[in-house]
Amino acid sequence: MLKGKVAIVTGGTRGIGFEVVRKYLSNGAKVILFGSRQETVDNALNKLKEENQSWEAEGMCPKLTDAKEVEEAVNKVKEKYGRLDILVNNAGISQNTPLYNYTAEEFDKVIDLNVKAVFYAILPAAKIMKEQGGGCIINTSSMVSISGQPAGVGYPASKFAVNGITISLARELGKDNIRVNAVAPGVTKTDMVAALPEQTVQAISARIPLGRAGEPEEVADAFLYLASDMASYVTGEILSVDGASKA
Ligand code: NAD
Repeated sequence: MLKGKVAIVTGGTRGIGFEVVRKYLSNGAKVILFGSRQETVDNALNKLKEENQSWEAEGMCPKLTDAKEVEEAVNKVKEKYGRLDILVNNAGISQNTPLYNYTAEEFDKVIDLNVKAVFYAILPAAKIMKEQGGGCIINTSSMVSISGQPAGVGYPASKFAVNGITISLARELGKDNIRVNAVAPGVTKTDMVAALPEQTVQAISARIPLGRAGEPEEVADAFLYLASDMASYVTGEILSVDGASKA
């Protein structure tokens, strides 16, 4: 479904991002994953090589909250591969801090990675995509971008912002043949959820109409669809993959 396409996936070393990388590679894309540390990038690349020697994957570690480093990394991809078809902004952190314990620094931290870094990657990527005649940007939102959450207000605030970026840029960049969408996962079995107490996960799962948390592979399928030509007329969409959690 993605034969010959070149994709960047941020936070591609584990969790949902890693499954997106695998899914894109197995569908014929060349993938450059952006991770936070060389060690985790190398581990992810080794795992991928073990699975399939012929997959074309490489990794880079720009500091995602540094606009200049991100611009340089994105431009390097264009220099090496001649194009950039897909940008997946997936790296993110969550927060659960009650308001009265919050600090301004903690709030800034989630906004810096979940919102500003998304913008920093889109800026150079969209310029490349415009020049080559089109492309596709997929951001990672969350079900809390619709329902909010009862603690850690910085996290839903960041994902509401991701939706705003997605819908607004879909309107602005349509004329350049750049589609901009987001995937909004529900509770998905990654390290982010493993960090929560088991009781909390069980209580959340019991309220999900499908009766279970999602698998990272199930979320990655939405990223594959949105990146593919099957979604050629889909832009400005926030695609929920959440077992109807917010219903
Ligand atoms: P995860 O913690 O397993 O993975 C997060 C990824 O982001 C990792 O690859 C990590 O290296 C990267 N990352 C974190 N901080 C970084 C930094 N400062 N610089 C560069 N990379 C950094 O989480 P996940 O569950 O796979 O989450 C992926 C995305 O999905 C996030 O944007 C998250 O908000 C969103 N999401 C997850 C869930 C869920 O239940 N797991 C639900 C809704 C939305």
